[in-house]
Parts: sequence; structure tokens; C-alpha cells
Amino acid sequence: MNQGQSRNNPDEIVVFSIVRNSTCSECESELWRGEFLRMEKDRPLCLSCADLDHLVFLPRGNTALTRRARKYSSLHAVVVRFSRARKRYERQGLLVEEQALTRAEEECLKDEEARARARERAAERRAAANEQYVATFRSRIAELFPNAPSEEQAAIAERACRVGSGRVGRTAAAKELEPGALELAVRAHVRHQHTRYDELLAQGLDRSEARAAVQGEVEEVLARWRGRPCRER
Ligand SMILES: [Zn+2]
Repeated sequence: MNQGQSRNNPDEIVVFSIVRNSTCSECESELWRGEFLRMEKDRPLCLSCADLDHLVFLPRGNTALTRRARKYSSLHAVVVRFSRARKRYERQGLLVEEQALTRAEEECLKDEEARARARERAAERRAAANEQYVATFRSRIAELFPNAPSEEQAAIAERACRVGSGRVGRTAAAKELEPGALELAVRAHVRHQHTRYDELLAQGLDRSEARAAVQGEVEEVLARWRGRPCRER
């Protein structure tokens, strides 16, 4: 994330997370590997002597938090460390004012809450739409197959809606509510629930053989559910 840009920014204070021990040139305190050091006119300074010890370290990784913390901090420093493997300085994070970090954290939290609420509302809308769709589907089945048991009408509608749940848009939904599509859904249900279809598949028949074998039974059930006399076979 724009590492180069930050390092090239001449106004930005750079602090080194040191890879070997050093000594502050002003207070002469020892600085251990991993501690922060500021170079001032080629002199190493500890953060106290550099007047940066009121800042807190924010490791890189959270872009939104970093952006906000930098924005609210009147003073910040970029922390870099030399990577021996890559032979270059790599950005470790920022030093920012504590109240800036707190404010940034609060804002990010609020955003998260807002996003969570939006997700909840979207889920509620989807659930309501789905319920509506199941109800419509079911009433259309009831029109076409008035003698089908009510719980089976419900089961068919719910299954069809589960299958269709990945589908987007009203066009696809409307297509599924056409009589032809409805009948396919009912037919599939009957095949699985009222015939030996699954059994035949388990016995190794292929789908077309198994379908042909149970065709008559399916038609009988459909005719009964339609409320018309059974067709002759
Ligand atoms: Zn010092």
C-alpha cells in the first residue's frame, strides 16, 4: 500500500525499527533490536530525545484504520524496518497520537456496526421476498393441482424456492411460475416421493430408463391431483 509514496514524501517523519542494537546519541541510552530510532542529521535518537515518545504504534494491515488515524493525528511517523531478505526498507506501520487512534478506532467500529445493520436489513428483505415467493408458488400449485395434499404443495414450493434461491431477478422467478415450470417441479416431487424412481436409480438404472419405468405412476398421481379422471394408458 503506497509504501514507496510514503517514503518518498519528504515531509513524513521516518522512524526505524532497528535490526541491530544502537545507542541514542543524545541520552546515550541503549536501543535494542526491534526498538524505534529516529535519524536526525545522521545522529540516531531514541524516541524520547526525538520528542516522538508520545506517539503510539499502529501496525500496518488495517487500511481504513490507518487512513483515519493518520488523518486525525497532527503528527505522525512512518515506521520502517530493513528486510535483509529483500534488501530494502519495509513499512511496518505508523506512530500516531493516541487520541487520533482512539477516534479512528471508534469510527471504524461505527462503520462496522452500520454495515452489520445493513446486512441484517438486506437479509430480512430477502427472507420476506422469499416467503412471498414461496406463498405465490404454492398458490399457483394449488390452482393447478387442487387435490394435491396441502403439505405436499408446501413441500414442493419450498423446495423449488430453495433450488431457485441463487437466482436473481424477477424474470427468472416469473418463468418458474409459468404452468410448464410448475408442472416440472410437481412432476419431480411425485417421481421422488410417490414412485420407485429413487429405488430404480439405486439399482443402477440410468435416469431415462428409470423415468420411463415410473412414467405411468407419475401421470396417475398428477391426474388425481388435478382432479381429472385418470387417463388411459
Ligand atoms: Zn535518547
